[in-house]
Amino acid sequence: MRKPFIAGNWKMHKTIGEALELVNALRPLVQDIESVDIAVCPPFTALAAVSDAVQGSNIRVGAQNMFWEEAGAYTGEISPLMLKELVTYVIIGHSERRKYFGETDETVNRKVKAALAHGLLPIICVGEVLEEREAGKTDEVVRRQVLGAYAGLSADQARQTTIAYEPVWAIGTGKAATPEDANDVIGRVIRGTLADLFGAEVAQSIRVQYGGSVKPGNIAGFMEQPEVDGALVGGASLKADVFAEIIRITADIRSR
Ligand code: PEP
Repeated sequence: MRKPFIAGNWKMHKTIGEALELVNALRPLVQDIESVDIAVCPPFTALAAVSDAVQGSNIRVGAQNMFWEEAGAYTGEISPLMLKELVTYVIIGHSERRKYFGETDETVNRKVKAALAHGLLPIICVGEVLEEREAGKTDEVVRRQVLGAYAGLSADQARQTTIAYEPVWAIGTGKAATPEDANDVIGRVIRGTLADLFGAEVAQSIRVQYGGSVKPGNIAGFMEQPEVDGALVGGASLKADVFAEIIRITADIRSR
């Protein structure tokens, strides 16, 4: 059984003070939940404060991006060596990084390898844009992204990763995919591709989250699907009570 994993992507929101307020409010709301892995991914500037604030709790911290080199003349970048002092997870290849910052399947692959080499656990984002979906290219695009991200990885490395299936047209739009659709792409395309690369047993062991307009009102539908192992949550992770409700509903469904 794969343990559900709910992660909050705060994107470019929250000053250090606001981040502390959010995580300090979240901590008591989820402290009794053991059946769900929980992470928050604040902006870089708040990582140190938030990692201190969650010490001794069941909340883990992730970064939203990183560069693949350890150090050097790369102005503005953050390395895995720097991050590993602060975080457990790192989101790699979010669609906003692909869209606004030129990330490609190749750069995603370099980042995934660098993260794993330093003991960071990558959350690898894949998902089709609206035109690709409408052109019937979802399977092809998602398969290509998975093949690209995992190129050259060993099965043991693959086991340490999480995938977030985030149809780009569902991110921040209020229009989530249907749970059945998400389940189909995750099971047939993502796990199918992972099985081609690493075998069925490894494919079954890798957690795959759904992401895209998840909120308390729709998380149950996703968590009832056998292939969906949790969610990467954007907007709804910015309020402690709302994010806690998503986590609580997830825990309730999986303990039925
Ligand atoms: C995201 O940022 O990964 C995301 C899924 O955002 P939202 O939940 O706001 O759609």
